[in-house]
Amino acid sequence: MTGSPTPGDFRLGNEILSFRFVATLSERRGDAVVERIATPERLRAWLAVNELGSADMPLPSDALLRDARELREAIHRAGTAIAADGVPDPADEDLLNRWTARHRARLVLTGGRARWRLPDTDPARAALAVVAVDAVTTLGTHHGSHGDGVIKRCEQRTCGGLFLDTSRGRRRRWCSMATCGNKVKKANIKAARDGAAAGHGDRMS
Ligand SMILES: [Zn+2]
Repeated sequence: MTGSPTPGDFRLGNEILSFRFVATLSERRGDAVVERIATPERLRAWLAVNELGSADMPLPSDALLRDARELREAIHRAGTAIAADGVPDPADEDLLNRWTARHRARLVLTGGRARWRLPDTDPARAALAVVAVDAVTTLGTHHGSHGDGVIKRCEQRTCGGLFLDTSRGRRRRWCSMATCGNKVKKANIKAARDGAAAGHGDRMS
């Protein structure tokens, strides 16, 4: 038994599993995107930190890493379409549906908590199928006037991440308060300070 996995620099501040997975590629609308699952080791670590398998399960293959990223981008495109009141591309829906067809994990109650128990063969692929099921459940039940939340794209300029707004009045703007919310708040404070400094300078001249 190895120790519990460390979060590393994964972005885990989003309540929705499949949207946390989308956030493994961050700064999507910025000048330099950040790939947080660059290697099979990193994919395994992300799965483990999200309670899908363990840090010592068999390492995913390079092919599975590619498939994982393809799944991630299909979730992102489908979610972005739904956030804009559109419908996902049928090709993305097909890809998600192929993943949900591979769902082999079992949900078990252990110590009073629900956990996914993965099969011994190809556990990482089964873990990704859980992510796909979460994506289909979230995307398919939370749009328009249906469901108890609304899918939105993060308003932080460079992010492009997705989140489920369950706030009263649906006024949430950021994928995560810990990352994008803070970033915007700091930028606003700096802008206000710079503005005040500029105003002060005007008066002095
Ligand atoms: Zn964001």
